[in-house]
Amino acid sequence: MKRTGEPVSGQARHRLTVVSGPSGVGKSSVISVLRELAPEIFFSISVTTRAPRQGEVDGEHYHFVDRETFAKMVDNGELLEHAEFAGNCYGTPRAPVMEALASGRDAVLEIELQGARQVRAAMPECQLVMLVPPSWEELVDRLTGRGTEHDAAVAARLEAAKRELAAAGEFDACVVNADVQRAARELLTLVVTDRESTAGQRGDSS
Ligand code: 5GP
Repeated sequence: MKRTGEPVSGQARHRLTVVSGPSGVGKSSVISVLRELAPEIFFSISVTTRAPRQGEVDGEHYHFVDRETFAKMVDNGELLEHAEFAGNCYGTPRAPVMEALASGRDAVLEIELQGARQVRAAMPECQLVMLVPPSWEELVDRLTGRGTEHDAAVAARLEAAKRELAAAGEFDACVVNADVQRAARELLTLVVTDRESTAGQRGDSS
């Protein structure tokens, strides 16, 4: 796995963790437990052009914006990364992440694969963690069973899921979400553990 720009010891403690994984794997549930376990961590709130799902609150789950506003944010360089996923645009507001890191907090982004690659390119010292399902069948069940998307959207998300899982080798660590509490604890360990001790888990060959 290619790694560049390894920080020297001492800069290692506070850093950025990017959590990706296929739609339906349970990222939101795991992140919400992680929030309870470690309220000191900064969790980025993304901007999206997707319509809010039932129960989603603007400014809490996402900043919901129209395409024009999103395009302006891209043009103004306000987004650390951005991507189109299953017909909607998503992006990470840059300033809050930079402020959190500058103030010494660990920061977590929950984003899809294209965004994870952009963050890795822009900030090579970040840690990429992929959340994976216990099996493909389990993922299909979760995605079709949750009833938040129509058939075409589910199909698009399953296609994207195949691409995401195929990219697991680009990630520094994988966490299997068979049990939400356990997955959240494993993720917490990765987020707060020193770079020195996680380097061995990555199987770096470079
Ligand atoms: P959902 O519509 O299910 O909330 O999110 C769809 C996908 O977009 C998920 O994989 C989620 O991780 C990803 N996502 C959420 N926010 C962002 C973001 O700011 N940037 C990128 N690249 N992906 C995001």
